[in-house]
Amino acid sequence: MDRIVVIGASAAGLTAAETLRKEGFDRQLTLIGDELHLPYDRPPLSKQVLTGMWDTGKIALRKEEVYEQSGIDMRLGTRATGLDTGARVVRLDDGSEIGYDGLIITTGVRPRLLPSGHDLTGVHVMRTLDDAVALRAELATSARLVVIGAGFLGCEAAASARKLGLDVTLVDPLPQPMVRQFGDRIGGLIAQLHTSEGVDVMTGVGVQAILGDSRVTGVRLTDGTQLDADVVLVAIGAVPATDWLADSGVLIGDGVLCDATCQALPGVYAAGDVASWHHEGLGERVRVEHRMNATEQAMAAARNLLGANTPFKPIPYFWTDQYDTKIAAFGLLAPDADVTVEQGEAAEGKFIAHYTRAGKLIGVLAWNMPRELRKARGLLAESIG
Ligand SMILES: Cc1cc2nc3c(=O)[nH]c(=O)nc-3n(C[C@H](O)[C@H](O)[C@H](O)COP(=O)(O)OP(=O)(O)OC[C@H]3O[C@@H](n4cnc5c(N)ncnc54)[C@H](O)[C@@H]3O)c2cc1C
Repeated sequence: MDRIVVIGASAAGLTAAETLRKEGFDRQLTLIGDELHLPYDRPPLSKQVLTGMWDTGKIALRKEEVYEQSGIDMRLGTRATGLDTGARVVRLDDGSEIGYDGLIITTGVRPRLLPSGHDLTGVHVMRTLDDAVALRAELATSARLVVIGAGFLGCEAAASARKLGLDVTLVDPLPQPMVRQFGDRIGGLIAQLHTSEGVDVMTGVGVQAILGDSRVTGVRLTDGTQLDADVVLVAIGAVPATDWLADSGVLIGDGVLCDATCQALPGVYAAGDVASWHHEGLGERVRVEHRMNATEQAMAAARNLLGANTPFKPIPYFWTDQYDTKIAAFGLLAPDADVTVEQGEAAEGKFIAHYTRAGKLIGVLAWNMPRELRKARGLLAESIG
């Protein structure tokens, strides 16, 4: 191969490019990203960046000089708008095209939006550094935040806003926060955690409208309740950034559909939040929106593009920090799994939970018990590794 192109310059894209170099690929390597910042880490955005504990320089993934040394042709502020897999070219938003022999797709996800309300000042989403900086600036002069969506992002933002002293309401149509990530039982504990920290947790009710003329003034819920708000964060999940792949021949379902080796088409691989692949250990197709997976899968995709041809079957890892509570988990925390507390006590705020399906251990979760999680991971590896 003479030229490899990576589209999406973030955790997965950068790792893919660096892995190609480490594995000896010394020909033309181009990393294209539509943001204007050098690659940075997203997890601190809703935590240390939002609370102002860290300045934004701290989240850069590499120092600037590293890029000069790596011989990676980095093109920031450039969006891929189309792909012709027959001619092996990517179309770019400046009207130019770039040819490739190998392509790695790492375009991640974009925030899901509500049908209306996003044009009002004070209504935010949070995916990028610019999003986090804009939200932080508004929180500094606001008293009341309504967070729409109690997934991990909404919950983390609610916790950060409480730390800043705002009145926070967390709204979600599902019965508990983080139910999609952790299921009902752990979701109930997350609800208790936020309630005990002073968040008004309103679950089982949806949003009918965001209110305001040019600036947001509140949110009307489906049960008629009207909430006043100076700022609203819409955190209702994300959709894979695959619009540019329309009509390319790359199969799109819940993300870029790949085989067990992360290959979408011959010479085309995907990794990170955008990639849906067949996980041989779990025996099912998965797409993982977690930071560690972005790194591990990008390494696997890069090696496989160079010929390793090895199935990617990691034990997915995920963490979230809310207030002083640290939750971390390995595996699949399927909402339909049976959840049992195996060590510690939920009531004491320290425990290990096992997720099983048809008697098979598929996930382990640690609530303020990081050391014990490592042992639990061993058990999980025997079950699905
Ligand atoms: C606020 C926040 C907090 C998080 N906290 C945690 C956490 O606590 N724990 C955890 O495990 N995970 C967390 N995550 C998830 C984690 O950050 C992601 O899993 C990770 O960033 C995925 O990396 P990626 O490279 O696959 O995708 P992304 O980081 O989304 O990067 C994709 C890049 O591609 C660019 N792009 C998209 N389309 C195009 C195009 N057509 N042309 C060019 N460029 C394009 C995007 O702008 C972006 O820069 C968090 C995410 C967010 C947003």
